[in-house]
Amino acid sequence: MGYIWKLAGAQETQRFAEQLAQCLAPSDFLALEGDLGAGKTTFTQGLARGLGVRQVVNSPTFTIIKEYQGRLPLYHMDVYRVGDDPDSLGLDDYFFGEGVCVVEWASLLEDYLPADRLTVFLRTSGEDERSIELCPKGERYVKLCEEFDFDARTGD
Ligand code: ADP
Ligand code: MG
Repeated sequence: MGYIWKLAGAQETQRFAEQLAQCLAPSDFLALEGDLGAGKTTFTQGLARGLGVRQVVNSPTFTIIKEYQGRLPLYHMDVYRVGDDPDSLGLDDYFFGEGVCVVEWASLLEDYLPADRLTVFLRTSGEDERSIELCPKGERYVKLCEEFDFDARTGD
């Protein structure tokens, strides 16, 4: 079962994530799935803003992990180029750390992921339109999805 919304542009995707960030707590884990250009990094930028991160958030494709500080720590990872030795990265420090962990292409590391997590699917449905689907695993995220709703009218 999933929760699906349409997002009319990059700013709306960021606003969605910014609102979702208000529901996040220490050690939360978000798995971001979607093709290149679907909006995973754009989503994370909104999430960071919602967490009160003031630094510029950009794609960690080459660094794999970037850490930011807001009202909670934010660990932003893109594991697209993770290679064949994920164990060398010390993933557990982030996957099971104190901060909010957001992982682009998380399914590539399926075996390493926390069992309880919120998977976020982004799908391109037009040049500037995306659909977003939240798929909760575990009680914490089921509750989060039941309680969260996106208010598209709240501007910035
Ligand atoms: P990914 O990290 O999934 O590869 P990015 O967030 O880096 O994707 O890139 C998404 C691109 O699509 C950006 O250039 C962004 O401006 C554009 N875009 C257009 N519409 C949307 C939307 N509704 N949501 C997110 N990004 C969008
Ligand atoms: Mg990206």
